[in-house]
Amino acid sequence: MMTPQSVARDVFLVGVKNAHAMEKQALSIMEPQVQRLEHYPEVSRKLQQHISETNDQIERLNKILADAGHSPSSMKDAFLSAMGGMASMGHMPAGDEVLKNSFANYAFENYEIAAYIGLIASANMAGESAAVPVLQQSLGEEQQMARWIQEHLSEVTQAFISRSASGTRADV
Ligand code: MG
Ligand code: FE
Repeated sequence: MMTPQSVARDVFLVGVKNAHAMEKQALSIMEPQVQRLEHYPEVSRKLQQHISETNDQIERLNKILADAGHSPSSMKDAFLSAMGGMASMGHMPAGDEVLKNSFANYAFENYEIAAYIGLIASANMAGESAAVPVLQQSLGEEQQMARWIQEHLSEVTQAFISRSASGTRADV
């Protein structure tokens, strides 16, 4: 029989790899948005800040795997997956792109929050105590990003409506 700790270690390692794939997907969702956004400078700045945080998060996950004896280069990101449908939204022409992307970004950040909470629980059960504060830092960044999106959804919608009403480009 396997011990709870050895099961937790397996769950933890799979979780780190899944989180790595998730963060790569996060970049693939945010980077095209930043390139397209023209009229929502606050959203653009926030996305750029979170892209930078996301790169740090990927480095943290690489280090956790390296410390566990797994080389980051051997990590093959599973082709995605849970949030794939939402991720592709940015590629579809839509008159309300900034709104659809804001909703999808909010959903994605909350998915990340859930993933890090689970990963931290498995790290604790696996005795991987060094990874816990590192993962908590990433969790805090996801929570901050989700909160920012939530706090700006009304404002972005109002700006979208005002721009649309005045006949100026509103979608990006
Ligand atoms: Mg992230
Ligand atoms: Fe995030």
